[in-house]
This record gives sequence, structure tokens and C-alpha cells, in this order.
Amino acid sequence: MSPDDLKTLIRSVPDFPAPGVLFRDITTLIAHGEGLRAAVHHLAARAEGAQAIAGMEARGFIFGAAVAIELGVGFVPVRKPGKLPVPTIGVDYDLEYGTDRLEIDPGAISPGLKVAIVDDLIATGGTALAAAELLRTAGAAVTEALFVIDLPDLGGADRLRASGLSVEALMA
Ligand code: IMP
Repeated sequence: MSPDDLKTLIRSVPDFPAPGVLFRDITTLIAHGEGLRAAVHHLAARAEGAQAIAGMEARGFIFGAAVAIELGVGFVPVRKPGKLPVPTIGVDYDLEYGTDRLEIDPGAISPGLKVAIVDDLIATGGTALAAAELLRTAGAAVTEALFVIDLPDLGGADRLRASGLSVEALMA
């Protein structure tokens, strides 16, 4: 299936999680076996050369782990706070309303490890920028970020590119 075909498998849900927001829901894509395999395959083709894949909790785990398996490299979970059972490093980042935090196990990163970030969707880019900062703090070389969906009106991909990341999405 082409990225254009995959777009027909995304469900748009109005007023979630708040009134006025049109939520792009990948549940319908991942329920479709051929669609899920094609999405993973397209992402993996763009992540060639990565030595590890990092995915953000929770939907980034689905695509990121599958891409890592396809490439035969390890997967680094970028977690919400308090989930990892070992000492972590973390980064706080701004949301539209309030702040959030991401954490990783620094032991998962060897110096200079070439890591590609994978998530379901990029909106403002704040989550992916925070993940990149965290992975770099741990010693990774983060050069690319891959998404199933880009919401270009929110400018996230441009922000990521301005920070030196190569950014690709399967659909906008
Ligand atoms: P950003 O930090 O503004 O780029 O938001 C991206 C993060 O929020 C990703 O981890 C997404 O999973 C999640 N997100 C934001 N909007 C949506 C949406 O419409 N559908 C699914 N996930 C979303």
C-alpha cells in the first residue's frame, strides 16, 4: 500500500481530546494488517542506517518497535515519568497548556549511537524535540525523526529541521 492509500486508513475524530481539536487516530490503521505492515515498511526504508530506534510512549512504541525489528536494531523506549525501574535522565518540555516530561534509561545509549526517532504524529514538534535533546544528552547521535502523520500547519517539522534533524512523514 502506498502512503496515499494509508491515509485512507486514518480516522479523524472531532473534539478529542478537547473541543475544537481534530484528532488523527491511527487505531484504524494499525487494525489493518496490510496497512500496518506497509506503514512500518515505509518508515523502515527511511530509517536505513540507524543503529537504534527510539519511540515515544505510547503510540511511538507501536511503530518504533516494529521498525526496529524490521531493521534488526534495538529499540529505546522514551517513557512518561516514573515508569522505568532504574535511575533515569529526563527532560521537561512545554505543552500548549502546562508541561510534560520524558525519561530514558541512559544505559540504553552507547556513545555516538546513531538513533532515529519514530512517532505516530508530529504536531508542534515539542515532543520530538524533547526526545532528541534527551537522547543527545545520553550521548546518542540523533539525525532523523520519522512520523506516520505530519500536521504541517503546526510547524513542528520545520522546528525539527531548524534544530538539525532530517524529518520525514508518510502523509500530511
Ligand atoms: P507535538 O509535541 O505537538 O508535536 O505533538 C505530538 C505528540 O502528541 C505525539 O506524541 C502524538 O502522539 C501526540 N498527538 C498530538 N496530536 C495528535 C493527534 O491528532 N493524533 C494522535 N496523536 C497526537
